[in-house]
Amino acid sequence: MAHADLVAHNQQFKKGIVTLAPGVYTAVGYAASNVHIIEGRTSLTIVDTTESLKAAENILLDLRALTDKEISKIIYTHSHRDHVSGCSVFRDGQQPVLACHLFSSDLMAVDPNVIAPNKALGRRTQAQFGIGLSPDERINLGCGPGDRPMEGLGQGFVPPTELIPADCDIDLDGVQARLIMAPGETDDHMIVWLPASRVLIGGDNWYHAFPNLYAIRGTAYRDFQTWADTLGAMAALNAEILAPGHTQPVMGQSVVEDVLLSTRDAILHVMRHTATGMDQGLSLDDIVTSLSLPKALGSKPWLREFYGKLGWSARAFAAGTLGWYDGNPTHLGTLSSTTRAQHMADLAGGIDALADQARLTKDLQWRLELCDHLMALGYAAQSLKAETMIRLADTEINATARNTYLFESKKLLEHS
Ligand SMILES: [Zn+2]
Repeated sequence: MAHADLVAHNQQFKKGIVTLAPGVYTAVGYAASNVHIIEGRTSLTIVDTTESLKAAENILLDLRALTDKEISKIIYTHSHRDHVSGCSVFRDGQQPVLACHLFSSDLMAVDPNVIAPNKALGRRTQAQFGIGLSPDERINLGCGPGDRPMEGLGQGFVPPTELIPADCDIDLDGVQARLIMAPGETDDHMIVWLPASRVLIGGDNWYHAFPNLYAIRGTAYRDFQTWADTLGAMAALNAEILAPGHTQPVMGQSVVEDVLLSTRDAILHVMRHTATGMDQGLSLDDIVTSLSLPKALGSKPWLREFYGKLGWSARAFAAGTLGWYDGNPTHLGTLSSTTRAQHMADLAGGIDALADQARLTKDLQWRLELCDHLMALGYAAQSLKAETMIRLADTEINATARNTYLFESKKLLEHS
């Protein structure tokens, strides 16, 4: 089972090459992310390259039905793997690869002496994207189709050959374009503006879902204010067509303005709600559970939580601004999970009574928390926790939460 609206969100990943304006195209639904094509006098510029060799090959094959012009340039909107990993398919010679001067990819040399939780990041990335789930279980990725080729995943990355230091005008074989530094989902975002056709290629600063201000695979703080400011600057371009890094293009000046400004306002709302709550000394749990979008924003279909989530964003804003301490001195100290679980069992009247509570409660979140206490005491609550996560997954509109619940429930059952 799955949330009907998450299933309906699949229309955003309908596969095909969409014509945005004469000579400007976006390939949607072939991979987690989109590829944009700008046709010049005798050659093509490719903006973003997908996540895998196979997806890039499939796009190139369909593109060749539209034009046989050679590819003369490649541009990355930012460094995320799903945008840079099909590059070698499009770059069959020495074509320049352009990116923002802040471009930084973990596909480039990583210093083995740097201490980082890479194994945790790997597992959580697999969970978020539902790697190992069947396409039926993994309805979609929130930002991309649930079923897409995985051959050559991460294998076609080509490091940029030219770093762009600041906003600049550029001639793409007869098509005038402006490259604009646009920090948002990442600091190294560079978007492409085509003033003649009024097409804006916006990278991942906007897509048809609440923005992933915090990705549960594990991301450093994405500066909310900067992202909101960039959305305002993007709206000021008065684009007629917005080609996002994920989901279908947006057509029509007033709609483009609406999607950009309402998304900016949604980010500002989360910031204001969280900052006010923190100023009032509220707990993060209360800040999160009292957070929703005002009706004027909540009614926008592109602000539904298919990808990012309001509550996770509030937590990220709190941690990104004041750090982990929430202002409650109780949290200056720590109990081990076993000690806390033992206290809970004592309160309940013993471990069997605690297990009864876990089975009887109708509150699925509370049941998960009780299962954790039980498992901390060595009580076999794995199957109860797994079954509860599956029930939560079935009601989730957020693809990354759904995928994580299902992925982790399978792992839990494997090891119990
Ligand atoms: Zn992306």
